[in-house]
Amino acid sequence: MSEMIAVIGAGQMGNGIAHVCAQAGLSVTMIDVSEGALAKGKSTIEKNLERQIKKGTLDAAARDAILGRLSTNTDLGAVANASVAIEAATENVTLKFKIFADLDRLAPAGTILATNTSSISITEIAAQTKRPEKVIGMHFMNPVPVMQLVEIIRGLATSDATTARVVELSKAVGKTPVEVNDYPGFVANRILMPMINEAVFCVMEGVGTPEAVDTVMKLGMNHPMGPLALADLIGLDTCVAILDVLHTGLGDPKYRACPLLRKYVAAGWLGRKSGRGFYAYA
Ligand code: NAD
Repeated sequence: MSEMIAVIGAGQMGNGIAHVCAQAGLSVTMIDVSEGALAKGKSTIEKNLERQIKKGTLDAAARDAILGRLSTNTDLGAVANASVAIEAATENVTLKFKIFADLDRLAPAGTILATNTSSISITEIAAQTKRPEKVIGMHFMNPVPVMQLVEIIRGLATSDATTARVVELSKAVGKTPVEVNDYPGFVANRILMPMINEAVFCVMEGVGTPEAVDTVMKLGMNHPMGPLALADLIGLDTCVAILDVLHTGLGDPKYRACPLLRKYVAAGWLGRKSGRGFYAYA
């Protein structure tokens, strides 16, 4: 039997991670507390595979083989057979600490415990376990089947062997890993979030409309998407949460979330997922 990867959380990110692992020939079990999330995650993978078939990049036999390598489970105990567990559950510190304490108890001693967290300290997550040298950040980008990068984040105690294994796994699933150290926001969000925040300040101060700000960044900087459209895609509540992590963790006022961003979140204007953010969505 091929190597088994456990993916914890079947949401946006979890089902994408399971998809690329199964496509790379690995056996994958997706674990979620919700049966509904597992069903939705599996059907998203099926739809995305169907799209690959329509594009001519996959055939029906390969699709069937990929789906044959994928199983689902509501019991975290299913990590008993995994060599690597990749956690992609809801971004909540208390929840992730509990999952890692449970994973440490349930997974074999050699299993690597990776997390896809966008902003929670890898070192703190690792401290919830008795194997901090085997805990590491594996930050995939959204949508996982499309985006090339995996930000590999070493906690204070992460070993060279764990890092090497996760770098190898990232390459095996067709991604380009980049190794960074554990500081708030890592690299991706440390740079992206202040840019988004500054774009919101530009709107608040009347420097430009959202359309003007996004067009300047698209045409002037060659960004595929403007920062405000990207913020709507990520979720404005998520942007505030990450800015708060940067602000608290680094203690520098330059990371304070723009009051207009907080106001949108307070109004329930969260971006695409709520139908309204800097833009309106049908
Ligand atoms: P999501 O809300 O789509 O999915 C989270 C899933 O976790 C849900 O299906 C939920 O049922 C499940 N879950 C909750 N508690 C659980 C538990 N105890 N055990 C197992 N499953 C549990 O969230 P998402 O957008 O997929 O984000 C997941 C992680 O990926 C977060 O840490 C987030 O910060 C990170 N991330 C998100 C993005 C993004 O653009 N959405 C990008 C990079 C990283």
